[in-house]
Amino acid sequence: MSNPVPLLAARDLTKAHGRTEALRGASVELQAGEILAVTGASGSGKSTLLHCLAGIVRPDGGSVSYGEEHIDRLPERRLSELRRTEFGVVFQFGQLIPELTALDNVALPLMLGGAGRRQAQERAGEWLERFGVRGQGALRPGEMSGGQAQRASLARALVTGPKVVFADEPTGALDSLASEQVMTALVHTARESGTSVLLITHDAQVAAYADREVTLSDGTVARAEVAA
Ligand code: ADP
Ligand code: MG
Repeated sequence: MSNPVPLLAARDLTKAHGRTEALRGASVELQAGEILAVTGASGSGKSTLLHCLAGIVRPDGGSVSYGEEHIDRLPERRLSELRRTEFGVVFQFGQLIPELTALDNVALPLMLGGAGRRQAQERAGEWLERFGVRGQGALRPGEMSGGQAQRASLARALVTGPKVVFADEPTGALDSLASEQVMTALVHTARESGTSVLLITHDAQVAAYADREVTLSDGTVARAEVAA
């Protein structure tokens, strides 16, 4: 199979947290517009891989390229610009800003990009709507359920129209019906805008939304398969 040049490519990544080797030579590629599921047991290095790919954590070894740029070697300034303009990240534990309402959490990336508050809030409201939590817009993260916070995190990751969305178990706190709703909204958005998605999940039903699945095992990619 002759693949086009990948949008994002990690090669032979290694990363230790103290004495724990979270990544031991993991390689993975993400094509433009592709939805890739990353599965694997708890502790297999999935979150660490995502953080390295998204330029949040620098790997100890190996390389991460995004188009022509080497994420692992970029200066912090360019990295934050990439994270703000091209990447959207949904962290495993949501990590919304506790002092801000859901609406303002979602509006924030737009305001950091220079949008006015009113316009940013309007767009933010539309994204909360897509993920079924518009009614929770006035709540602060501590007042929302885990599932509502995850939906708001997805809205926050997508509101700027990123080229790549990194989602770390975005349905981990959702029941199967809610997972289906959230995945439908995420996939629809990605297809509509050509956004690539790297999706970490434990759930085979969620992974089934992806074009392809790779499995991490002890910090390396154990198995790659092409979905039908
Ligand atoms: P997964 O997301 O697949 O559960 P992680 O990437 O979170 O895996 O973690 C991989 C390994 O690294 C685990 O053994 C975990 O305990 C360890 N680890 C992850 N983050 C840290 C950290 N900040 N400090 C120490 N150990 C960590
Ligand atoms: Mg994890």
